[in-house]
Amino acid sequence: MLFLKNWTKMRKLLILILILFSYLTGVAGVANAEKIPILMYHSIGDGTGYKRSARDLFCSPPQFWAHLLYIQQAGYQTVTFKDVMNDRFLQKKIILTFDDGYENQWEAYDELLKRHMVAVFFPVLRAVDKNHKYLNSDQLRVMARMGMEIGSHSMTHPVLSRSNAKKVEYEIKESKLQLEKITGKEVITFCYPYGRYNNKVMQVTESVGYYYARKIGRASCRERV
Ligand SMILES: [Zn+2]
Repeated sequence: MLFLKNWTKMRKLLILILILFSYLTGVAGVANAEKIPILMYHSIGDGTGYKRSARDLFCSPPQFWAHLLYIQQAGYQTVTFKDVMNDRFLQKKIILTFDDGYENQWEAYDELLKRHMVAVFFPVLRAVDKNHKYLNSDQLRVMARMGMEIGSHSMTHPVLSRSNAKKVEYEIKESKLQLEKITGKEVITFCYPYGRYNNKVMQVTESVGYYYARKIGRASCRERV
């Protein structure tokens, strides 16, 4: 399961849980007043040309469209962490997240927009504007303007629990500042690279102004939709 860490600045304690199916390409099916399912995606595409291990992080477009259809038909409303923070609560909420800032996520964004759905994107700052494989600043700005939430996934995607204090602060704080410069919006959510963190990392995440941090939890069966 994935948990969103709720920081002391929050007005109420929420524990949001992600139920993952497969390598984060499935659809979660549970939610109640305290729990919000979160789906984690990486790449949208067929993974052609990638190693098998990397291909497992791909969700094909038809599969992704099927997930969205399922979410809609099951009566879920996609929300962002900002929606949660602002108490824009609906009956059945779900959060869709996209890690690492791959350019193929633009296709997902486009489809979400058509369906009046939202998601949270977590680019790694080092990769932004790097090359055509990654989302660029203009795309992130547009996505933010169109209602998507842009959160931070660090500067260079290190294992923070193994990094020294200076690096931890740099990765967490600098990425927030740079993303805010790019999008013009406050960045309230951090996504731990590899889902790895410790108490010190959590403390820094809180102290530099994030409200939520997403970690990785359990993955289970593939192809539930
Ligand atoms: Zn990542």
